[in-house]
Amino acid sequence: MRTSAPAKTETLMKTIIEPFRIKTVEPIRMTTREYREEVLRRAGFNVFGIDAVDVLIDLLTDSGTGAMSSEQWAGIMRGDESYAGARSFHRFYDRVSAITGFEHILPTHQGRASERILFEITAGPGKVIPNNNHFDTTRANIEHSGAKAIDLVIDDARVFKSRHPFKGNMDIDKLELTFKKVGAESIPLVMLTVTNNSGGGQPVSLENMRAVRKLCDAHDTPFFLDACRFAENAYLIKKREEGYADKTVGEIVREMFDLADGATISAKKDGLANIGGVLLLRESELAQKARNLLILTEGFVTYGGLAGRDLEALAQGFEEVLQEDYLHYRLRSVEYLGENLLAGGVQIVEPPGGHAIYIDAKEFCPHIPAAGFPGQAVVCALYRHAGIRAVEIGSLMFGNGDSAPDMELVRLAVPRRVYTQSHLDYVIEAVLEVYSQRDKMKPLRVVESAPHLRHFTARLEEVE
Ligand SMILES: *Cc1c(COP(=O)(O)O)cnc(C)c1O
Repeated sequence: MRTSAPAKTETLMKTIIEPFRIKTVEPIRMTTREYREEVLRRAGFNVFGIDAVDVLIDLLTDSGTGAMSSEQWAGIMRGDESYAGARSFHRFYDRVSAITGFEHILPTHQGRASERILFEITAGPGKVIPNNNHFDTTRANIEHSGAKAIDLVIDDARVFKSRHPFKGNMDIDKLELTFKKVGAESIPLVMLTVTNNSGGGQPVSLENMRAVRKLCDAHDTPFFLDACRFAENAYLIKKREEGYADKTVGEIVREMFDLADGATISAKKDGLANIGGVLLLRESELAQKARNLLILTEGFVTYGGLAGRDLEALAQGFEEVLQEDYLHYRLRSVEYLGENLLAGGVQIVEPPGGHAIYIDAKEFCPHIPAAGFPGQAVVCALYRHAGIRAVEIGSLMFGNGDSAPDMELVRLAVPRRVYTQSHLDYVIEAVLEVYSQRDKMKPLRVVESAPHLRHFTARLEEVE
């Protein structure tokens, strides 16, 4: 008779392996440098304009690009496509409710749909929404409502070499000052992004979340999480925050959500699915308003713009993402990439955070000023040299018109369960080779751009 396996395999081995076997493969295509040069020009030096088939290693985003498990694919077959009250909705609802403790759980097609609904019913002209760092779609949705989005992350977040374990933390003094300056009546809610995507994928500590909660309570203001990467944030709390080493990730996740009045989630991250979002609310009246808007633009409350099969994949994904072997491998892969770039002399946001490594583009190519988009120049060089697609988070993404952002970053986002260690070794080699020839990189200028989220569609050219 077979005995059942222990829940956790104790091991003294140092090698950390991908905790899965590969069942289906998707070939990727090698291309020549000349071909990539031509592709880059056709795309207007904007990698969002490049076809995926022309990319070898795609680190554009970790959003919706993960590999689903065999159980998730099985769920796809089980999907109940009934318009109202589908079985798949209940599986999704029960799982999200078990993880978060929330009662009002609205499915949406992705994170920005949750944001659009939330800010339509809470924000508007004259309002101010503080966050550690707003993500681009969050900022755009707030500004679209007529409100102002402000970033109050701690100063350490802007120091590349600072090894502060929670560089995603909100600066509590700055938040207090903001309450004093603009008045609580102008602040419909305070947000914290966990992990802080636009600020280097850095985690937020529970201590900091409690401090924000306390200040919000003092001003009778709701506290929301942008909780796209709640599991990665919780795992980093377990590893880095005093008093949490012996808690399960599930317990830490619950403690995070218990502090919040609501949350927006893009399930394309820690939902381990290719599409989907969630809006969580505690307050019934607000939830009713949100449901009305959901029906108007997304779909009925039990599917919110998703197919029943998507809800099945999400229900399963939200369970798998809390497995600690998975999180250990996930966070270690990102750390491995970061450590090797640092060892080769490339400055990154230290310490490596959750889902991506962020290169300091100002240091990478000091001869290119902010007006010449140093981050975008690095992105283009990586594609040209090795077919790797990264993304700029700097003047092109955030510097629309007025001032340049503090940091010029290049994000190498690691899709979940997709690439192996040898893929990452290839990326490390490529970045270090580009770094060694960095004086050849040229500045860029924008020749065509849109009024919102211009980095998605802008066309650029190299300045000779
Ligand atoms: C991805 C993301 C969003 C938006 O989610 P989408 O699913 O892309 O619409 C919002 N906030 C953060 C922090 C994100 O990473």
